Amino acid sequence: MKIDEFQETIHACRFCFMCRHLSAVGNVTFRESDTPRGRALIAGKMQQSMDTLEQDYIDAIFKSEISASCRFHCVSHFDEAGLVIAAREDIVAAGKAPEPVKVVAEQLKNVSFSVEGSGDTLYYVDSYSDKKSAPAGCKTISGGDTGRALQVLGYTADSEAVFAQFANAVKSSGCVKLVTSCPASFYFLKENLNGVEVMHASAFLSSKKGSGEVYYLESDYLKNYCAEFVSPAESLTKLGYSLKPFGTNPEESYTAGEGAVVYDRLYPEVAEKMCKHISELADNPTSDVLVTASPYTKAVLNKYAPELTVKLLDEILVKGL
Ligand code: SF4
Repeated sequence: MKIDEFQETIHACRFCFMCRHLSAVGNVTFRESDTPRGRALIAGKMQQSMDTLEQDYIDAIFKSEISASCRFHCVSHFDEAGLVIAAREDIVAAGKAPEPVKVVAEQLKNVSFSVEGSGDTLYYVDSYSDKKSAPAGCKTISGGDTGRALQVLGYTADSEAVFAQFANAVKSSGCVKLVTSCPASFYFLKENLNGVEVMHASAFLSSKKGSGEVYYLESDYLKNYCAEFVSPAESLTKLGYSLKPFGTNPEESYTAGEGAVVYDRLYPEVAEKMCKHISELADNPTSDVLVTASPYTKAVLNKYAPELTVKLLDEILVKGL
């Protein structure tokens, strides 16, 4: 089983509750099964028997937001996020994926990538953005998720097949530089796309000076998955913005499920709870300006917490407040 590769993590997490306060889903469901400890206990059950695995346990594995905040802040960095994806692979292989997951996975397999426009640089338009957000002078590539969403759902072979189509489309474009606003795609493409320079939009856009108070909601992928990436919070400060700390601590994920890429399509009721939680933590929900690097986070907060003013990092860098 894939989870056998995470034996140390299973052993460490199932007796540990140190990072429970960083479980974004657990913080809104209040269930122990929605913490790394609960999921490690479920993984132990899976190793005993897949046949008798209860549906509740399976749902808990797929309900994880995979922000990787717990892994990042764990003193030993036990890979609780990797364990979840491995558990999903095993569940999918056993034909036991929950129904909403199967439906979304089928949709994610149905991609058709196309390249439009002209320029030396290719801009990937992720599923939560539109072509209008593409920087001037770039070609665009769009037509579906790159394969990361299927990967986090445990559909490894399908993820690879989708990514192969994406890579072919990129190759046909003739571009050797690709830019994206989507932190999940940035992480995934940087890991997998050979021969192409992959950049996050915040490092590509020419930014202009600005001023005013903003709250930056740190991205799961840029912070917890791309350790070498300089936080856009630093760029905002250098440009002249005054950054105010959001929430109760700088470790918790306030992305409403960015790590899971398509969380709102799988468990909209939990995504809504995470958005309400973020809204409740805002100092002044109707007047604060929240900035996110993630098109996903902006889209779900706009949908489930419309009282908040949420701006995409790209907009702030290019246009100001
Ligand atoms: S990730 Fe680290 S802190 Fe969290 S439960 Fe596992 S061992 Fe404990």
